[in-house]
Amino acid sequence: MKVLKFGGTSVGTVESLHNVKAIVEACPDRKIVVVSALGGITDMLIDTAKQAAADDISYMDRYTAMIERHIDVVMGAVPESRRAGTLGLVKNLLNELGNIYCGVTLLKELSKRSLDIIVSYGERISSIIVSNMLEDAVHFDARKFIKTRDNGYGVQVLDNDATHAAIAETIASDPTWHTAVIGGFIATDDKGDVTNLGRGGSDYTAAIMAAAMDAEQLEIWTDVDGFMTADPKVINDAYVIDHLTYSEAMELCNFGAKVVYPPTIYPVYHKNIPILVKNTFKPQERGTLISTQMHASHSEREITGISSINDTTLITISSFCMVGVIGVNTRIFSSLSRNGVSVFLVCQTASENNTTLAVRTADAELATKVLREEFAKELASGKFNEIIAESGLATIAIVGESMRNNTGLSGKLFNTMGTAGINVRAFVQGALEINISFVIDATQLPKALRAIHDSFCLKN
Ligand code: ASP
Ligand code: MG
Repeated sequence: MKVLKFGGTSVGTVESLHNVKAIVEACPDRKIVVVSALGGITDMLIDTAKQAAADDISYMDRYTAMIERHIDVVMGAVPESRRAGTLGLVKNLLNELGNIYCGVTLLKELSKRSLDIIVSYGERISSIIVSNMLEDAVHFDARKFIKTRDNGYGVQVLDNDATHAAIAETIASDPTWHTAVIGGFIATDDKGDVTNLGRGGSDYTAAIMAAAMDAEQLEIWTDVDGFMTADPKVINDAYVIDHLTYSEAMELCNFGAKVVYPPTIYPVYHKNIPILVKNTFKPQERGTLISTQMHASHSEREITGISSINDTTLITISSFCMVGVIGVNTRIFSSLSRNGVSVFLVCQTASENNTTLAVRTADAELATKVLREEFAKELASGKFNEIIAESGLATIAIVGESMRNNTGLSGKLFNTMGTAGINVRAFVQGALEINISFVIDATQLPKALRAIHDSFCLKN
């Protein structure tokens, strides 16, 4: 049994759907095909909903464009014998969607629940199209078995037990199918209301299915050749990493490289199911295989890959009164988490005089406000110094299992930065020694990536 997931670009046009058909039909195994919405449709569903709620009548144009796009794809991709039937199903769903938009305009209100219902149409429709495009495929409604629950902060997260139980009762216990097709991303909560697994969540659906069905492999078919050694937009000789361990993939995908949605790794790692990342448009390429084993050739390399993001803000909380005081960091992180701010890098020196956090620049204003409120008394009394936020920064992470116990590696990294004339503003290496992350001025990012890529022999 295999699970094959196709992203939005792969199912986005008639031509790309022909590739999908060829890839699926060339795989003789019993399989579940998980699909995203047609490329760009989720964004369009959301934008149209916002327009409708703002009583902007031009939402009708976007809605009409979505109808036309789906009809064109049915006409071009679904074989004639099933075309009329598919068109009927798709038009029904689009009509329902139109009625919901109408309701949103009348009420001039777009609740989270309505938006979740609206975005679900992307995958509901694409999965019906793909199942009818393929020969002998059976469609299953993912809303019946991908279950979510509220995590206590108003965010829907996977309800693992309920999902596994529902999969066992539905798709897993049905022996009649050889190729099953489901929409990714979409789910329902315990009340049966439509929810989802978050933007990019179709990969996660595929991983959940692979784990629940004990698949022998999870294939993620996308529009890039695999994980790259560095951002190819910056480093033109960056190349595809043929093999990653689960830990390396986790380190790389959580940050910078948007190849796989980060929650995807855990369910399959847990069951030791390999992930193969492949390009739908170049199926002959090897792609990236993610598994437990470190590939022999990689042990000679000092690092496996570099990831980077250029929107970084550093926030520093400092005081001469923090030393030895227990609970300052608890207050920092509790207040940020209550406000939904994610921190991706943390530094505290052994002097305990200051803690520096890195957040996305979009979160920086909120983070600073929250921290100033949390420590208002200490700031007013002068016990704490003014909380400083510095933006215009970038973060780089170098990643690799072979970094562990490799003496001199961080020395070499800082030497490389020094030789390139780049000032390192903050850095962290966890004791797992699989990732060193550091922050520099954003304008220096291309130069820093180039210097690391060259000096760590990431050239092919
Ligand atoms: N269609 C959803 C999104 O665009 C889920 C996915 O594509 O993975 O976020
Ligand atoms: Mg996607």
